[in-house]
Amino acid sequence: MKYPRLDIDCGKIRHNTQFLITQLSQKNISVTPVTKVFLGNPIIAQVLLDAGATVLADSRIENLNEMTSAGILATKMLIRTPMLSQVASVIKHCDISLNSEVEVVKRLSNVAKQQNRHHEIIVMIELGDLREGVMPDRVIDFVREIISLPNITIKGVGANLACRYGVAPDRQNMKTLSDLADGIEAAFGINLEIVSGGNSASINWALQHTGQTRVNNLRLGEALFLGCEPLDNRKIKGLYTDTVSLTAEVIESKIKPSLPWGKRGFNALGKREHIQDRGAVSQAIIALGRQDVCITGLRAPKGVKIISSTSDHLLLETSNKPLFLGEKVTFTLDYNALLSSMSSHYIYKFFNTSKCP
Ligand SMILES: *Cc1c(COP(=O)(O)O)cnc(C)c1O
Repeated sequence: MKYPRLDIDCGKIRHNTQFLITQLSQKNISVTPVTKVFLGNPIIAQVLLDAGATVLADSRIENLNEMTSAGILATKMLIRTPMLSQVASVIKHCDISLNSEVEVVKRLSNVAKQQNRHHEIIVMIELGDLREGVMPDRVIDFVREIISLPNITIKGVGANLACRYGVAPDRQNMKTLSDLADGIEAAFGINLEIVSGGNSASINWALQHTGQTRVNNLRLGEALFLGCEPLDNRKIKGLYTDTVSLTAEVIESKIKPSLPWGKRGFNALGKREHIQDRGAVSQAIIALGRQDVCITGLRAPKGVKIISSTSDHLLLETSNKPLFLGEKVTFTLDYNALLSSMSSHYIYKFFNTSKCP
């Protein structure tokens, strides 16, 4: 077997997806899985479709293409506002895109007309987290400018929260979104099919809210893949959180002093840390480094502590018995660790579909 390796339990991901689709459907909220953390992997895409999803979303056209080439026929949604320079491939490869710039939508319309295709858009609205979105008081004007563009349909509105500043979805901002949807429908006599309320950070709001809302869709990645709600970093009830693990191999294991010797300058990462003498320690090096994974997102097994890391080495200390040369150490991952390790060229990825009937 080759290392470092990521093991991905597709059966658990399928359970998580089915579970949330069912729970949220009781609130009339549909789930659009976001595949970016798995780079649009077609095995995962199929798992999501088997679990009941009908639309797949990704921030990268390359990932949406990957799925299409592999024969994944679901509707494809591009969730990062298109670059002007990629408008032609957006029309060619995506059915729906999220948008916040009039000029981009005009270009999408132009190209869609040329290619004799139809494209749907979701207008993103800024609700305070200050990433993408049209300012609320500009939304009506925005829609006015794009409403009659040929080969474009305004399928709905959406918002993204909790990414830049961790602004939480709540009754008030979700009401703003609902009211704006109502306002657009009234002003232009159209029907907005989708009101997309956010990402995994909206799970608690969605499951707990009572009363009226227009929000009928969430775009979910982390919740499905890690069973975790990112705002409070809490496990979501009923979901698996151990869907993925990262295993790497010990390449050196020795008793060494904890205090370095010799004249010290900056280390490999440009830092000069204060070091405390803790006497002799049981130190192991794992063949895994910053070029592979965001180290701060790894959780080591019991009795093993991550001490430091360089590009290619992860330094561990053990409290009781030392790790042996060649031993495999398995870590659990948070979203950043999963995103980075999936994106690393050096990590072998294994998709276990054996528990997927
Ligand atoms: C990444 C992303 C999501 C999914 O985020 P999760 O926290 O993984 O659920 C949803 N919407 C947009 C616009 C995104 O970029």
